[in-house]
Amino acid sequence: MTDAVRTPRRRVTLLHTGGTAGMVRGPDGAYAPRAGALATALARLPELADPRLPEVRLDELEVLLDSSDVRPADWRVFANRVAAAFVAGADGVVVLHGTDTMAYTASALAFLLEGLPGPVVLTGAQVPLVEVRSDARDNLITSLLLAATPGWAEVGVYLGGALLRGCRTTKVSTDGFDAFASPNLPPLADVGVDVAWRRELLRPPASGTLRVQPLADVDVVALRLFPGITAETLRNVLRDPVRGLVLETYGSGNAPTRDPALLAVLREAVARGVVVVNVTQCLRGSVRMGTYAAGRTLAAAGVVSGGDLTAEAALAKLLVLLSRGGTPAEVAAALAGDLTGERTPEATA
Ligand code: ASP
Repeated sequence: MTDAVRTPRRRVTLLHTGGTAGMVRGPDGAYAPRAGALATALARLPELADPRLPEVRLDELEVLLDSSDVRPADWRVFANRVAAAFVAGADGVVVLHGTDTMAYTASALAFLLEGLPGPVVLTGAQVPLVEVRSDARDNLITSLLLAATPGWAEVGVYLGGALLRGCRTTKVSTDGFDAFASPNLPPLADVGVDVAWRRELLRPPASGTLRVQPLADVDVVALRLFPGITAETLRNVLRDPVRGLVLETYGSGNAPTRDPALLAVLREAVARGVVVVNVTQCLRGSVRMGTYAAGRTLAAAGVVSGGDLTAEAALAKLLVLLSRGGTPAEVAAALAGDLTGERTPEATA
């Protein structure tokens, strides 16, 4: 943590949104969030008084959430609280969040927070801080140090030894301490005895003003293709007022072609302005719709390639772009480009 040690009294806001890290066991034995429990647990951490750590200001949401309950309206709240922390003078922000939907929130924050002046690190834990054998302590302390490190400004996810670009992440384990992967981009930093930064990947602080992008109440859906999917199912999914679809396809972006009715439903949806983005069900690699006839038909139906976007990032990006109010063609063009490091430019197909 050499960088952070050299700048000990930077200021980091800890935004507590909920999740396992700050949970306690209820009377029924199940973990649930409880207001004030995190502050009590933090007060028992002597490390937080160490001058080598940044000054920490706790900002706890009025309603703490298991992240399975997080909705896009909550992303708006989180983004505004993060922006307010920077305006109030924070050098970085740590967002304590449940791991279940952390990849979605990290992606959404990356698209919503334009012109970030400093780092935003999402972290959480598989075991609450109040338990004896918890991963929360290291995740929290390391995230505070990473968020206090100058010279980078983007939304990251830190758990179990790797700092990942937030809009590249996906949850891959229900019980491992390294619960997240970034399948198409190496970690921004590997955290062991030292922090090994991949400086060439880091996004620098913006020189302009920090702005929170609008997020409207737009209906988007995600659908994972499966063998035997019918035109009727797809038609039901695409009913008005749906304006966007993340279609999780096979391999390099392929869908069944034996059923003309299925493709007709897609064509008809695109024709009435629904934006359909194609991402792969595979963990690694990219959509290339030109490779197989089964992919070409999707492109011909007006489906946009998501390249190597994760399904989580595709959903958040689609929502944010549709919220800006452009035409479907403009949204499709922006989807195909790279806004904040979420997709590899060469991977467009
Ligand atoms: N269900 C919890 C949540 O996402 C799990 C966790 O925090 O890891 O809030």
